[in-house]
Amino acid sequence: MKNSFIIAGVMGWPVAHSRSPLIHNHWIHEHNLNGAYGLFPVNPNDLEAAIRGIKALGIAGCNITIPHKVNAMRFVDWVHPLAHRMGAINTIVVQPDGALHGFNNDGFGFIQSLLQSNPRWESNTDPIVVIGAGGAARGIVVSLLDDGATSIRLINRTHSKAEELARAFGPAVTSVKWEDREDALHNASLLINTTNQGMQGESALDIKLNNLPTKALVFDAVYIPQETPLLKEARLRGNLTVNGLGMLLHQARPAFQAWFGVMPEVTDKLYAKVCSS
Ligand code: NAP
Repeated sequence: MKNSFIIAGVMGWPVAHSRSPLIHNHWIHEHNLNGAYGLFPVNPNDLEAAIRGIKALGIAGCNITIPHKVNAMRFVDWVHPLAHRMGAINTIVVQPDGALHGFNNDGFGFIQSLLQSNPRWESNTDPIVVIGAGGAARGIVVSLLDDGATSIRLINRTHSKAEELARAFGPAVTSVKWEDREDALHNASLLINTTNQGMQGESALDIKLNNLPTKALVFDAVYIPQETPLLKEARLRGNLTVNGLGMLLHQARPAFQAWFGVMPEVTDKLYAKVCSS
């Protein structure tokens, strides 16, 4: 039905802090659409029931956030191959026949945010250093490989996890030991922090940037605060820096399009709104 009220939302636990309602409701208003995007606090024990209830409630779909991104894959009817490779979903879209399809748009958000900050960015040049081997790292590494990256140095405090990911992703990804992380910065084109270090309430990421070329881009998946100690140090030595806010905003676009039928834009107005929230 063309004029029906469209409902979407985000499932997480806890979820009250999520910026997603602000982003999607901004676009609903901007495009004069008939709908709303809300918060669904879903206890992990109730995840299956909540996901199965999406269709019954007539909801268009939802985002999936911490801690459900991996487990939610088990309760949808189909998972996009890209999300399979990333090992998690962050979006569910109800299909016209009622089937629940799972997607992961984090990688899209990451690449789009890099391009927005540096339109000339190309992944297939000099080595890329990724710190961390959790969910965010997985999504980012898959998107870099699909974007043509040929050399990714993966570094994690727990080395076995970096080794595991490197094995899974093939010869373009090599694991580097935590104690060698500063050596790995030589001739890098991009340094990415995918750990929670630098987040509000956490310590700064423990790394010195002396070996990093000043022409390298520095990306931090963290967006609270907007300038982490890592980004501050990088900016002061002349590197171009990008925080995780653009990734968050851009990953929301394909989901919005799937639910509401319009591909929205990430504008300065939206940035300002999210930054001031
Ligand atoms: P995760 O799966 O729990 O992974 C956490 C990573 O941080 C692991 O690699 C862990 O290493 C590392 N770590 C934790 N404490 C550390 C420490 N003291 N020193 C060094 N490394 C440490 O989490 P995630 O889902 O990947 O999320 C990671 C970050 O990315 C969070 O800040 C999250 O907000 C952000 N994120 C942002 C976006 C966005 O759109 N901007 C999207 C997704 C995630 P070990 O394996 O050794 O524990």
